[in-house]
Amino acid sequence: MTPRACPFCRIYVADASIERCETCDVLLVSPRKLGPSPEERMAWESLPPDERPIPVSPFSHGRALLSLAALMGIVAYLMPWLEVRSPDRWILHGTDFGRKLFWPHAALAAWVVTVPTAMTRQSLGRLLASRAVLAVFALVPLVTLAVLYAKPPTHRLLNVQSTWLWGAALEVVASCVGLLAATRLGRGAQK
Ligand SMILES: [Zn+2]
Repeated sequence: MTPRACPFCRIYVADASIERCETCDVLLVSPRKLGPSPEERMAWESLPPDERPIPVSPFSHGRALLSLAALMGIVAYLMPWLEVRSPDRWILHGTDFGRKLFWPHAALAAWVVTVPTAMTRQSLGRLLASRAVLAVFALVPLVTLAVLYAKPPTHRLLNVQSTWLWGAALEVVASCVGLLAATRLGRGAQK
């Protein structure tokens, strides 16, 4: 039996047979339901809103949309990006571009660091300050694809024909969603 506490005087009671606080005559509750003590509340309220701690979470304070974009971007990187139809038919995934050219791996790296960066900002002020760098991370896959799109695979002698596929489109969508999410981080939480 875990100890319970009085929500009023905050005295802890280990004896499971006691249901009510002997002093206040109110039902004992789990210590987790106590909420912050008056001292903790005062310490909290003395901090400027921007410096108050926020939870380490991939979902709170507008971070859910950014996490979703990062997940979408990572999945899109593994999906087919380009179909080469001539001289031979083959499919290139994001990972194939990374293996061949190396620098497109930046798109994956940007998504991988996005979630830890966003979820570990420990105050609203720090989260707001991270907006710019997270927006840049979200832009990396978009720029990667723009460069690949501008310079698709060529061959010295043969005429290479290719078509962009849905994986690349999904990566572009992830970038746009990520960009939007980064600029909206911490919104509605300035209270
Ligand atoms: Zn009590």
